[in-house]
Amino acid sequence: MVFVVLLGPPGAGKGTQAQRLAERLHLPHISTGNLLREAVMQQTSLGQVVRGYLDRGELVPDTIVGELVSSRLNEADAAAGAIFDGYPRNVLQAQSLDRLLARRDLRLTRVLALDVASEVIVERLSSRLACQSCGATYNSRLNPPSRPGRCDVCHGPVTRRSDDEPAVIRRRLVVYQATTKPVEDYYRQQGLLITVDGDRPCDDVTRTLLAAIPRRSPARRSPVGRVMAAD
Ligand code: AMP
Repeated sequence: MVFVVLLGPPGAGKGTQAQRLAERLHLPHISTGNLLREAVMQQTSLGQVVRGYLDRGELVPDTIVGELVSSRLNEADAAAGAIFDGYPRNVLQAQSLDRLLARRDLRLTRVLALDVASEVIVERLSSRLACQSCGATYNSRLNPPSRPGRCDVCHGPVTRRSDDEPAVIRRRLVVYQATTKPVEDYYRQQGLLITVDGDRPCDDVTRTLLAAIPRRSPARRSPVGRVMAAD
């Protein structure tokens, strides 16, 4: 079982890399951003509650996100592990993920932080395109879809995300620095964090990330709460 968290600012390439890791490791890619955008698009009651937060670039309340992740982890495909992208976004969510996994007698395998300079991020986000159906991401200059406006993966419509407007990008970066950056320290203290330079060719980044993931079960917790290695 392999449970990996991908951290990094918006535009660092988490979505692209998480998708690649998920395919290579045959694990589900759990993106809270994708789950929330799906709810907004399908106009569910959850979608109506969270829409304003996404439009403003603010974090959705922890309880909502916690329930979303908990029910996603109960789906059969997550029994073997998962690649988390965009979650946890603050230290409370990180603690909540630890508890969610501990309840299943599990813990995280690895936390990978993508490091990318802010000028590169702003440039990337302003040319980012995303599939409205499956969440696959493209770059209008460097990596456009083969057929303009159509996703290579699922043929869904490819457009610019509404929160990739300059004012919302700036807000999301501020929120990232204030609330998500401290999550790195939380995992560093647990010895789980590896930082990877995300400003390199996509395939190189994927290779480095894969090499940093141990291919064995995460440590299981003993009945008395101590952590033991397990394969
Ligand atoms: P992302 O696709 O990860 O960039 O997320 C897009 C937006 O969804 C964020 O700006 C937040 O409004 C919301 N969001 C995604 N993940 C979380 C999370 N773990 N906690 C709170 N809000 C989130």
